[in-house]
Amino acid sequence: MTCDIAVIGAGMAGASIAAELASLAGPGTGVLLIEAERQPGYHTTGRSAAFWEECYGGPPIVPLTLASGPYLRDGGFLTTRGALYVARAGAEAEVSAFVDRFAGTGVQIEVLDRARLAPMIPGLRSGWDLAIHEPACADIDVAGLHAHYLALARDGGVALRAASRIAAMERDGEGWRLVTEDGTVINAGVVVNAAGAWADSIAALAGAHAFGIQPLRRTVAQLRTDPPAPATLPLVLDLAGRFYFKPESGRLWLSPHDETPSDPCDAAAEELDVALAIDRLEHVVDWQVQAVERRWAGLRSFAPDRRPVYGWDPRVPGFFWFAGQGGFGIQTAPAAARLGAQLLLGHGRDTMTETLDHALYAPDRFADTATTKRV
Ligand SMILES: Cc1cc2nc3c(=O)[nH]c(=O)nc-3n(C[C@H](O)[C@H](O)[C@H](O)COP(=O)(O)OP(=O)(O)OC[C@H]3O[C@@H](n4cnc5c(N)ncnc54)[C@H](O)[C@@H]3O)c2cc1C
Repeated sequence: MTCDIAVIGAGMAGASIAAELASLAGPGTGVLLIEAERQPGYHTTGRSAAFWEECYGGPPIVPLTLASGPYLRDGGFLTTRGALYVARAGAEAEVSAFVDRFAGTGVQIEVLDRARLAPMIPGLRSGWDLAIHEPACADIDVAGLHAHYLALARDGGVALRAASRIAAMERDGEGWRLVTEDGTVINAGVVVNAAGAWADSIAALAGAHAFGIQPLRRTVAQLRTDPPAPATLPLVLDLAGRFYFKPESGRLWLSPHDETPSDPCDAAAEELDVALAIDRLEHVVDWQVQAVERRWAGLRSFAPDRRPVYGWDPRVPGFFWFAGQGGFGIQTAPAAARLGAQLLLGHGRDTMTETLDHALYAPDRFADTATTKRV
């Protein structure tokens, strides 16, 4: 099997960059999308909390999020919900620091006092007196967006090879020789590392330095509560980073905002994290938790500086990074994939990507630092 570009991983990252590569390169370029699992999206992409939140990930991520907004909105993937970062009385300094941190980034935020906050969260316990309101926050149709990119890729001539785990890679002349677990050989001109939690493992197979991209487990539980979670409830996040929750079809999705380091794996929720989340919720609202209907966990994978890694490897020819999407890989997918495809193909920027500063995300920021390691 031969292709020009082999994309490893068919989660949101791989599907979106494959679609953009096919569309920018045109029909003469063969793109192959290779996925270890039978079902693309089985890992982190299928486990997200599904929001587009302008501040999420911090100021270096805001440009990618804002640049992705129009594509997501025009495609019908966003439903406005609004978000509230809530804080206890006495946290004025933390609220100001948050607002200062995002000044000039283009996000729309305003500070609310208890009088404006309380009607937005029925049953809010006393003591939660401050909030930062972000009206533009929206739910994302994650499955719809992933399916959209897979369809766009297919229509652009990309072949998808599922249930094909890459087990070995070596340089072969000017290109690569990849071997799947079942022994199939794939010859590729260049390789895109879009393997999510396995990004450093793929780098190791390719003989590249791993950048220390660390998977961190994040848990979500679906709760039935009394009263039921109101459909109009905004996404509620703790300014101190100990929980978030939002309504979903009459139920509540709740996370303890955990970040437990993990090896790459099929992550599962732990009882303790669910219990911790419920305890934290009960300190915020007076609702009764009637049942935990579902729980799940996924791996959010971060580079040491928590910025994504997009671009050519500084040392290994033909090896392109598209990894480290952390907790923002869905909401940034359109702009990230467009930028990634433009960088890989050597094309200029367009209106979606012209404001992005690639230096923030370039792999060569790790070229000579102590964080660079071999796995
Ligand atoms: C609980 C939770 C909530 C989240 N909430 C949000 C949110 O609200 N908004 C947001 O924007 N983001 C959110 N995220 C983050 C978002 O889900 C991720 O950033 C995104 O899904 C990463 O996509 P990916 O394609 O890099 O990873 P994945 O979806 O994990 O895809 C990587 C793929 O690579 C494949 N692969 C690995 N090794 C190989 C190999 N050797 N050969 C072939 N294939 C291989 C894997 O099987 C996998 O399918 C959340 C994440 C979690 C866990």
